[in-house]
Amino acid sequence: MKPEEHAARLIDEYCISNPKELNVEEIAYAENLFIKDAPLNNFLGMINYKESHGIITLNTNITDKGQRIFTITHEMGHFFNERNKPEWLRGCKVDDLSSFKSAKRNEDNANVFAAELLMHRPWFNDFTSKRDINFELIKEAAGYFSVSLSAAAMRYINIGKYPAAVIYSKDGFVKWSAFHDYFPFKFLLKGFAVPKESAASDFFKGNTMQTCSDLVPAKSWFPSDYKCKESTYLYEQNVAMPNYNAVLTLLWESEYT
Ligand SMILES: [Zn+2]
Repeated sequence: MKPEEHAARLIDEYCISNPKELNVEEIAYAENLFIKDAPLNNFLGMINYKESHGIITLNTNITDKGQRIFTITHEMGHFFNERNKPEWLRGCKVDDLSSFKSAKRNEDNANVFAAELLMHRPWFNDFTSKRDINFELIKEAAGYFSVSLSAAAMRYINIGKYPAAVIYSKDGFVKWSAFHDYFPFKFLLKGFAVPKESAASDFFKGNTMQTCSDLVPAKSWFPSDYKCKESTYLYEQNVAMPNYNAVLTLLWESEYT
């Protein structure tokens, strides 16, 4: 069974019809997964498990409710995806909980499970499909599904209607990026310096950053992409994450391409 199928089965089995009815802690207990809080040195969450039961440990540093729910759901993902395999322990770092299409397949699959359980595909489509893409929509989706902005943005990139890209930059450099299957450009390396044409660069210079959407030359973000022409522009919108000295950038195609 695929990670999405494990999550969809739980939604079906517990007759959950919308996100407000979803309580992942109750499902965890009903599935013989005990949850405890303890100090952890390197990990946000851990799970010890056998085929029929397990213990999820959450780092006591977690204070944000959304992060707590996502971490529990991610650890549940390891249990449902891997409980028939010989491993019996997983420790998950911050980066593991935001990875998709990374080198760590088990972590990616735990995130796929979590995204499907928390933002079940039909619910997410109902919420987003009649709206244009922008950060206002992503923020509302994050609130409605009780997930982080980056988790909602990633879900949109994976199953949303409009081809878009999300870029997470920290200290002025790209840390990760993700692209809708039909987004035209994909060649953006980790470590790429945020371009001066982007409003995100204002944040890293310590200036006030524009937060409404605006056009940006596609070439500024994708200078090495041979498909990218000088005349192509993209819409860009940014959200600052000052606690992390980071910016989340959303790009989508403009009608001027
Ligand atoms: Zn993990």
